[in-house]
Amino acid sequence: MVEEKKNKVEVADVNTGITDATDATVKDVASDEQNVKSDADTETHNTDISLEHSLPKIVKNADIVDDLQDDNNENQNLLQVLFANDNRLITVENGPVSVDSETRHMLALFSDGTYIVDENHKYDGKVLNFVATMKRRRIPIATPKYYSASEIAAIYAYAERGMGQINISAEETSDYQMQIDFLSVISRAAVHKVSDIHVVVADSTIILFRINGMMERELEYSKEWGEAFVRAAFASADISDANYAKNEFQGAQKLGATPLRGTNGKLRLPHNILAIRLQFNPIAFGSQYLVMRLLYADDNPNGESDLRSLGLGTREIELFYRLRANATGLKIIAGPTGSGKSTTLQRNMIKLLQEHKGEINVITVEDPPEYPIPGARQMPVTNASTEEEKDEEFTKALSAALRSDPDVLMVGEIRTLSAASLVFRGALSGHSVWTTLHANSAPAIITRLRDIGVRHYMLEDPEIMKGLISQRLFRKICPYCRIPMKEKRASSGYKRLKTALGDYGIENTFVRGNGCKFCGGKGIIGRMSVPEIILPNAYFLKLMIDGKTKEAIDYWVSELNGRPLRDAAIERMLKGYIDMDEVERWCGLLDQRPVY
Ligand SMILES: [Zn+2]
Repeated sequence: MVEEKKNKVEVADVNTGITDATDATVKDVASDEQNVKSDADTETHNTDISLEHSLPKIVKNADIVDDLQDDNNENQNLLQVLFANDNRLITVENGPVSVDSETRHMLALFSDGTYIVDENHKYDGKVLNFVATMKRRRIPIATPKYYSASEIAAIYAYAERGMGQINISAEETSDYQMQIDFLSVISRAAVHKVSDIHVVVADSTIILFRINGMMERELEYSKEWGEAFVRAAFASADISDANYAKNEFQGAQKLGATPLRGTNGKLRLPHNILAIRLQFNPIAFGSQYLVMRLLYADDNPNGESDLRSLGLGTREIELFYRLRANATGLKIIAGPTGSGKSTTLQRNMIKLLQEHKGEINVITVEDPPEYPIPGARQMPVTNASTEEEKDEEFTKALSAALRSDPDVLMVGEIRTLSAASLVFRGALSGHSVWTTLHANSAPAIITRLRDIGVRHYMLEDPEIMKGLISQRLFRKICPYCRIPMKEKRASSGYKRLKTALGDYGIENTFVRGNGCKFCGGKGIIGRMSVPEIILPNAYFLKLMIDGKTKEAIDYWVSELNGRPLRDAAIERMLKGYIDMDEVERWCGLLDQRPVY
């Protein structure tokens, strides 16, 4: 009974933390959008009355609106309200949303969702069809305001004139407009803490968001819009190759600290975004594929050093402490891309600096630095155009770091033998070195390094190989709508769970619910890191080098008190944080031996 109570409190705590964080993000982004807008147009002060409120006024003054086509100032002002704050008519010819000309005459849709329909065609099939299409494509569309046909014609005339009228070339104007579109996609993603934005340009343009690890189709626009979007994304970057080349693989970076290039300082990223890494790829049968990784500043407000809030338990936090207390040797965190290893490493480094009250020299070599580590010297690897050049630059930075009197070295990632050799040289010369590696599990770190070409005698030395860590991010289920496993007797998981963990397992396990107001209808409330940590000895390392993985793991579990990732995940499952699907997704079916 006591145990059960304790669990409930923990779940509640976790949830409160998440809710607060999300609220803060939404507020931040909202206030930032306002900043962007007020920067962008200083002369139209009356536009801080939101468009939503201004519109009914126009409708009331219908007789004035009737003369919209006249160029008298008053009417011009009304149109300006519709087009205020860079609001854009997206159904305009050759605009982002393609509409046939017959439909276009009956309606007008703006980038902020304002939707205007010809009052005589309210129930026209084409109009109803348009609404359904927009909803399917997830393009924002408000409830319609009804105007006359001539008013709608005036809106289009104004939009088209606006495009041609400005003396700076039309190309420049549309470039600027595209950067606004670029920013609005980023802002939309930032509100939902999207980790990656995928832009696929083919017959049409599809934008997908990765949220909590899952891909979701978010928006659909025309092909032309997508091509312009990709060019605008490239143009906005701070660090990139000189020119955009449609048929090449190119990488670029946009920092949150600087305004978008070519916007006279007017456009900035939402301020909770620290940086965006952009990867431009040509694709077969389509034209382009852009992937943007968003790095958030408020993932770690005030350089917080809390490993617990990432999801680590008391036992794992203690093991991390022991590794930090050790002034020499290699500590490696493994995991695939998107497993949260960089975040864990960064928090650990902040903690390390705090524990030493800043009296040690911590140097990092990263490509590029992902998150700030207050007190550390973070050395970026300058953007190089080829992989080869990149490796060369990385090796250069790494040897420079070794010559710069470090106590602790943090290396973003080991990818090549030359980087690995330098990392081992650092560890051999009495430094503490922390790094990450692409490997599937903590034991697999040894085999991966062996495959890269690291000498066996170094891999077998427990004075060098101090810590092997691997981690995954597990989606947390919403505690308000989760469903007890015992109500899911018919599910296929029920039987496997009963086989693996018996009635105790059934009693204490929950599955993801159907969604509620607390989780935004998703049944998921963020993610938690779950690690496996090995503090190896010589015998374990020898078994791994000899390819006796199964014996090595059995030895680690029985003699070194080890806890494999699956057991750590099951512990979270039995506390109701994560569900069984998620455990099986990362750790294999529960009624089978885990795969290493
Ligand atoms: Zn819920």
